[in-house]
Amino acid sequence: MSSSSRTSTVLTAAAVTVLGGLVAYAVYFDYKRRNDSDFRKKLRKEKKKVTKQTQQAQAAADAASEVSAAAIKDALLKIREEEIPPTPDEKEGYFMMQVQIGDQLVQKGPSFYLPAACAFFRALRVYPSPVEFIMMVQSTLPAPIFKIFMELVNTDVASRVEGYYDHFPPKRMNVSIHASEPEGDKPAKKILIAAKDFEAGDIIYTESPFVVALDADLEGKGTHCSYCFRRIEEGQSFVAEADKLGAVFCSTDCQTKANLDWNNMLFGREPVLPPELDPSVVGNPTDSDGREAAQTAYVKWLKAKARQPNVLGARFVAKQIAHETSKLVKGKDNALQAEAALLADGGELYSVSDHMERLRFVEGNVTDEEVKLLQAVFGAALPGLEQSVNEERLAVLVGKMAYNAIGITPDGGRDDKSVSDARPEDQERTRTPQGTQRQLGSGLYLVSSYLAHSCDPSTRPSFVVGSNELQLFATRPLKKGEELTIAYVDVAQHADESAEAARRRRRVELARGWKFKCECERCLAEAVQDVEKEDAELGVDKDGAKVEQVMRHEKLPGAGMGVD
Ligand SMILES: [Zn+2]
Ligand SMILES: [Zn+2]
Repeated sequence: MSSSSRTSTVLTAAAVTVLGGLVAYAVYFDYKRRNDSDFRKKLRKEKKKVTKQTQQAQAAADAASEVSAAAIKDALLKIREEEIPPTPDEKEGYFMMQVQIGDQLVQKGPSFYLPAACAFFRALRVYPSPVEFIMMVQSTLPAPIFKIFMELVNTDVASRVEGYYDHFPPKRMNVSIHASEPEGDKPAKKILIAAKDFEAGDIIYTESPFVVALDADLEGKGTHCSYCFRRIEEGQSFVAEADKLGAVFCSTDCQTKANLDWNNMLFGREPVLPPELDPSVVGNPTDSDGREAAQTAYVKWLKAKARQPNVLGARFVAKQIAHETSKLVKGKDNALQAEAALLADGGELYSVSDHMERLRFVEGNVTDEEVKLLQAVFGAALPGLEQSVNEERLAVLVGKMAYNAIGITPDGGRDDKSVSDARPEDQERTRTPQGTQRQLGSGLYLVSSYLAHSCDPSTRPSFVVGSNELQLFATRPLKKGEELTIAYVDVAQHADESAEAARRRRRVELARGWKFKCECERCLAEAVQDVEKEDAELGVDKDGAKVEQVMRHEKLPGAGMGVD
């Protein structure tokens, strides 16, 4: 790969990774820029100063000083250890200060080029729109300093991308992710492996869902908690009057958590920014009527047309914004910050989008109508937030929910669901060993999303009664390094079917839901004669799951598929 195309690849990754993670801050920044005249003045002044001073410096600097890659890496490691100021006001002050320091160093000559580039790199770390900032310094910094600055940016992005699987899954979960060797025309695939030995029946890990949704017929019915799925005794339920969806909770605790995660953003009327960030909205929510109208229209659509992956997708976006917003508030007892720390060792290094963008997906089912309704809900909650969804992004997200969601079946699940009249190819499927029909609802589990399917699985998911926390059990003794698999569909041979019929049933379901033909050991051992005819029936040729473009260059330990 040439160095210019490499730069553009890494830059794309930088833009997507950083922008994805900073949506809420960018929106807040923009909001302030539009509403605070002092802030606007200050920004303009700083920008002018940068331009003038750097032009002078450019004239003086004609010889490029060579800075070694090792020196750049060293400098980067030190900067990474520095704490980023948490609140927007502190970020702003820090940004201004770093730009000033950078300007002064630029004028001191070539031996100060690296420290100057470092100052601008520090400024970039807190600037909400990194690409904009990079373009700004490109036109104002002397070329040799800009070159060093870009080396810092590229090294930082590359090591963040490459180091992800050293931090995720967290060590306490006893599993790690490994890239399988590519075989023939089959590309390398990430699989989950045991990080130590297990006995049959051992709990390998427990994992909380990132987002959940009750089945449509249970949401708002009052029998199960919308957040934890616990059964609700009569007269024990909690409902918010303003909640357009009519979600029912088992406790104020669940209600509070749901509001914090997604419910207020999508269906409630409380301000979206914490009062610390925007005191003007306390007791005076912005355009409450507009918000209610947008939510009413969206809920009407949800109830008539939404499928579960779409509900999960909308909740995911809302929760992602909540996560980013939570980072802006310092020293508060903060459940979302605590969750980020649990998701990966050194959780502050990675944002929700880092976890999400690596997951495989199938094509998501999204309409223009849905996108517009959802944009209206977000935009009415806080002007600017409508940018957090567009059709392309939502389709990928919904496709990830469809591909990765696991059916939640506490105590074996339910048996009272009416049989769906949808065509078999349109039926909703989640990864549920008892069959999707038995789930109370589904959820996205970030680590468990890496569990591949097998018709003779090495593990099984289980849920304690009254909870949607997933416990992963070993079904047989497992050695360290062995692959962990679950059954995505009901793989048992029922009393009324032959082994051949059972094999066909599960393979058809897998092909419809996850777009692959199962080639697990059991399927191969039970194979019928006419394999070609059978493959044609399944209608899938090779694995149809997709990976996002930015992630294709990622390097895994031992995978040999990194950026050059
Ligand atoms: Zn609950
Ligand atoms: Zn199989």
